[in-house]
Amino acid sequence: FSKENGRNCFSFYFEELKTDSNRVLALDGELRKAIENREFTLAFQPKICVETQNIIGLEALVRWKSEKLGFVSPAEFIEYAEESGLIIPLSEIIFELACEGYHKLVAAGYPKVPIAINVSSIHFQQQSFLESVQTILERNNTSAQNFEIEVTERTVMNTAQETISKLVKLKQLGFKLSIDDFGTGYSSLSYLVRFPLDVLKIDRSFIQHICSLDDKQAIVDAIIQMAHRLQIKVVAEGVENVQQVELLRSMGCDFIQGYYYSKPLPMDELIDFIHFWEVEHQGRI
Ligand code: C2E
Ligand code: MG
Ligand code: MG
Ligand code: MG
Repeated sequence: FSKENGRNCFSFYFEELKTDSNRVLALDGELRKAIENREFTLAFQPKICVETQNIIGLEALVRWKSEKLGFVSPAEFIEYAEESGLIIPLSEIIFELACEGYHKLVAAGYPKVPIAINVSSIHFQQQSFLESVQTILERNNTSAQNFEIEVTERTVMNTAQETISKLVKLKQLGFKLSIDDFGTGYSSLSYLVRFPLDVLKIDRSFIQHICSLDDKQAIVDAIIQMAHRLQIKVVAEGVENVQQVELLRSMGCDFIQGYYYSKPLPMDELIDFIHFWEVEHQGRI
């Protein structure tokens, strides 16, 4: 390497750092403003039953288009919100939006399926979590039966009695409970049975190469078998093609979520999709 080259590398590295810290600063300011002004929306992704082809649920995924930063992915701003504590007011906004979404679906004539909400471990661990959720449901004139809570393995890895009793209480309130991104944490199913779970969502990283890699296929097969023995349903996440659908069907997977059926959609497009789906399958959701 020439000296010249080295200097370029150095200055490039320096620029990177500068833009990184600038971005964090901008993110912080913009996120605070966005929370104040409630600049978030939800996109909804259908979950399809393998056997009946019915839409059996919807997952709500937060979306944010910042005036200054443009579209920011939830993977980025949720992580930042968790580090900065902004996740608490943000989570409350997301719950409110999910309630509004439910009412819009009812108004459009589709009252049947629960909306799944992703709950951050930081929010879940708050002392006031259950109370804040109940308050939001009441304020929005709706009940837990209409919703499902998605928590990651990481959130429930904490064996504290408090974690278990929170999950039991959520269940008693009427929420369905699912474990998101299953397989990416270090928990085992034998560990998870102590929780009152309804659904396991197998992470996309297992589904992605399920048709070409035997080890992924074996793992998914084993997860489905074990979950069923424990009366837990299984959702495959990130399904993108018909080969994956067919393989998952042959393994007895219950539900499928992924671009193959639909990307997450804004409410108006979701209503069109549901309508199209009902006509296509001549059934109800
Ligand atoms: P997640 O909960 O596992 O959500 C699934 C993610 O996979 C979503 O990304 C979805 O758009 C994407 N996806 C679905 N099907 C496919 C597919 O077939 N192929 C591919 N490549 N991707 C697919 P998204 O919306 O960008 O969200 C990423 C993560 O951010 C979520 O993972 C979740 O951990 C977090 N997140 C999103 N919305 C919320 C929210 O409202 N609250 C909280 N706490 N976290 C959220
Ligand atoms: Mg999720
Ligand atoms: Mg997931
Ligand atoms: Mg994921």
